[in-house]
Amino acid sequence: MAQGPMRSVHEHLEAVLGDLSPRAPELTAVDETIGLAVAERVVNDFPLPPFTSSAMDGYAVRLSDVEVLPATLPVPVDLPAGSALAVRLVPGTAHRIMTGATVPEGADAVIPVEWTDAGAHRVVIEHMPAAIAPGLNIRPQGDDLPTGEQLADVGDVVDAPRLALMISAGISRVAAYPAPRVAVVSTGDELYPLGKPLPPGGIYDSNGYLIAALVAQSGGRVARRVRLADDQQVATELLQSIASEVDLIVTTGGVSAGAYEVIRDVFAKLGTAEFTSVAMQPGKPQGLGTIGGTPVITLPGNPLSAMVSFHLFVGPAIRTLGGQREVMPARARLSTTVELDSRPDRVRYLPAVADLLRRTVSTTARHGSHRSSVAVGTNSLIEVPTAQAQLVAGTEVEVVLIPAR
Ligand code: AMP
Ligand code: MG
Repeated sequence: MAQGPMRSVHEHLEAVLGDLSPRAPELTAVDETIGLAVAERVVNDFPLPPFTSSAMDGYAVRLSDVEVLPATLPVPVDLPAGSALAVRLVPGTAHRIMTGATVPEGADAVIPVEWTDAGAHRVVIEHMPAAIAPGLNIRPQGDDLPTGEQLADVGDVVDAPRLALMISAGISRVAAYPAPRVAVVSTGDELYPLGKPLPPGGIYDSNGYLIAALVAQSGGRVARRVRLADDQQVATELLQSIASEVDLIVTTGGVSAGAYEVIRDVFAKLGTAEFTSVAMQPGKPQGLGTIGGTPVITLPGNPLSAMVSFHLFVGPAIRTLGGQREVMPARARLSTTVELDSRPDRVRYLPAVADLLRRTVSTTARHGSHRSSVAVGTNSLIEVPTAQAQLVAGTEVEVVLIPAR
């Protein structure tokens, strides 16, 4: 373990992010960009909506023709949505029109069918509110977005509304940063795959699944998921070959000070590595390095330590590799519902339930880095700074909100 003062969480984050950068953008079918960051400025080359359309089922009219009620008008034209008829409203008539259909030129209002007798060839407009302005129930061309507006900028992640907007604008392909390929590596002779009975001393490799799920939630693609026994020779060869296939390797376990710490041993042979103590709890033993130029982040093996470290360091790293602009999780100041203890030397991170409606945050008292059950059902981490006077219930505390996907 490194001697000297512990590194702060922020210092370690800076070391992790270092000079990570995304792979070259790829021209991508727009419907395959959900969760990816866009790598160009995307603009619309026609207005939205593309034509002036009706917001209601009703009758397109000139308001000057319906000043006196009831007004009876002939209906010479029927305009269903999608109708390609380019028509002019004949003065003194009404055109029956459906929601989304092109409003005929010369019409300055659409009278909702509810105000009429709903006639097909001749309509009686029976009642209307007193003051009606021109443009009633008409959506002008470009009312949502005029031509040339920015639909996405470099680093914006495509979510459902942005995807829909780009599709409305007819954009079929977009330059996007590819999802980073991530290898998830679990280490330890005690680990067994699911489906085999556990021998004495064995545990299931839950971290492999935990980290793989978090990688996917962060916009990464799990390219490899492997379990390494504490065998230096095998581990060295496997890591070398994996490094050539991925953009990031995330390992759990094997970095503490004990004997049989395979990751530490492998790095001594392959590439560069630095193992440090970070002033946090859980998650003190951290490491990073490269194998064949591929970045490697080594997380401690305790499941809660691995999870907390993932949120603080690996999620931001994956989002950086994915070209995302916002790489850090959101934060909030919320009122704790329970008393919290601080530590003199390490910032504590406590899995918690943030209630953004009530502006409160709750956590259980049963913390311990091996107690992974306390993380179930949580959505955030309370960040307890070092050396605080007692934090009684009701105190405002800093909360890291876990991005949900
Ligand atoms: P280590 O960092 O290898 O010393 O492991 C610390 C603790 O985490 C030990 O109790 C390990 O058994 C446990 N652990 C390590 N890797 C995993 C894993 N992949 N899944 C579940 N527990 C693990
Ligand atoms: Mg181990």
